[in-house]
Amino acid sequence: MIIDLKEMAKKGRTEEDFFFEYSPEEELVSIPNVKLELPVKVLGTIRRVDKNTAFVEGEICFALSGECTRCLEPARREYAAKFAEEFSSAGAEDDYPFFAEKIDLTKAVNDRLLFEMPIAFVCGEDCKGIELPESEYDKRGV
Ligand SMILES: [Zn+2]
Repeated sequence: MIIDLKEMAKKGRTEEDFFFEYSPEEELVSIPNVKLELPVKVLGTIRRVDKNTAFVEGEICFALSGECTRCLEPARREYAAKFAEEFSSAGAEDDYPFFAEKIDLTKAVNDRLLFEMPIAFVCGEDCKGIELPESEYDKRGV
């Protein structure tokens, strides 16, 4: 996911939209029996602020599919995570670095994905979990 600022400058632009489809190399999901659907979609706008700074704003659209943690039924859910990051070639500590007029979104997007990843996977907010037959309830005295 590389944006070439030189290409943007050639077109006389300081702002441009982007769209990437990408497949993270690392395993970003730690929920058992749940997979991240590939590719993940990343879209947004990049704005050149000054010589050393560019601002990227966008959205990461991803979907998880697998086994609901509560009821164990197969499920699929879509998520949209907004992100906004500053990229700097001057080495400012809080920012993502860029070199040679090329901005690589990969690390910023991976970081955001990890941050947005749910810790449990539930088919719906109203999932009641595993429904045991009546007789099971009787046996357990619930
Ligand atoms: Zn469920």
